[in-house]
Amino acid sequence: MAPLEACELFSGLEPAALAAVRKAAEQRKYLRGQEIFSEGDPGDGLYVIAEGAVEICGVIADAHKYRLARYGPGDFFGELALVDDKPRAATAVALRDSIIYFIPREVMLRLLEETPGMALKLLRLVGQRLRDFDREHARQLVQNERLAAVGQLARAVLHDLKNPLAILSLTLDSSYTAQTDTATRRAAEARIRRQLHRISELVNDIMEFTQPQQPIHKLEPVNYPAFIEQTVGDIQPELVLRNVQLVVANRPPNVMVAMKPTRLKRVLFNLCDNAADAMPEGGRITLYFGRTEGEVITEIQDTGPGIPPEILDRLFEPFATFGKAHGTGLGLSICHRIIEDHHGRIWGHNLPGGGAVFAFALPIWK
Ligand code: ADP
Repeated sequence: MAPLEACELFSGLEPAALAAVRKAAEQRKYLRGQEIFSEGDPGDGLYVIAEGAVEICGVIADAHKYRLARYGPGDFFGELALVDDKPRAATAVALRDSIIYFIPREVMLRLLEETPGMALKLLRLVGQRLRDFDREHARQLVQNERLAAVGQLARAVLHDLKNPLAILSLTLDSSYTAQTDTATRRAAEARIRRQLHRISELVNDIMEFTQPQQPIHKLEPVNYPAFIEQTVGDIQPELVLRNVQLVVANRPPNVMVAMKPTRLKRVLFNLCDNAADAMPEGGRITLYFGRTEGEVITEIQDTGPGIPPEILDRLFEPFATFGKAHGTGLGLSICHRIIEDHHGRIWGHNLPGGGAVFAFALPIWK
């Protein structure tokens, strides 16, 4: 059994003062699992563990219990109520059968008044505990946020995968019997290809999003009009299938841009994909190009209903999605990251006469 002076707070105390504390200290026995005090109880004194172990825990959201600290022989607890004279802010429970010294508040206050060295020691120990608690709390916050983000991503992905998989399975069941004619089979193949495309886009988005945030390794100077011409050619077939017309309003300025073409292509794909999503009955996407002294500007306008006001101020945040049954909210955050990696800027707004505009500016390579 640890004597009182094994507790750091009492070590070095004058023999007379120590004797007084010993006299005032009451030895209490607690069984394993027994509550020593609980949140809201009056802060009636200080506890020092002679034998056993004690856990201090708090409760959040009325149900979730979390551990604040664990103490053993020679440790003290319940010191905060001693200092601030407020009800207990946490609950103390014996983890094993324990013997604990209880020193009433008045005795401790008198002792602290008479022994400034002890008051200073208490202050230092309490400060250290608060600091440890802060550090642990910050660590847990980060951990919880990470877990929540992973859960959110997993739910969005599974949700997005379910639909194309269901369509694939139905199409295969119904269209590949011995009686299926060529036309039905062709239509089924187109449907299967579209769903596979959807799945592979989703996989690309997730891979892109979960990549560690590192800048693109190497940007190479590429002729911008040539890049746009090729990208438009790649995007067009998918848009035609969705009854969306892609119009290039003017020729891009004949400049070079330092880029990683596959990644930049992804930005145009995502923006056109979003525009097409906003126009389920079909419509028009128009690309406009401009330049300033140092930047080339690309604008993507659509004839859809415009960006919902609910999402306007968090468009580029991950998981920000609105009004879509299958939105992951990753598309625009990926665009934002890619454009930033290219040292550019991206923004979006609504046109006064209806429709949405997304635009990005990229530095001209000199
Ligand atoms: P997701 O498309 O998966 O929802 P995004 O980050 O690509 O995620 O887009 C976020 C949201 O921005 C969309 O859910 C939609 O509400 C809005 N949005 C994006 N582009 C357009 C557009 N061209 N027209 C209208 N709303 C848009």
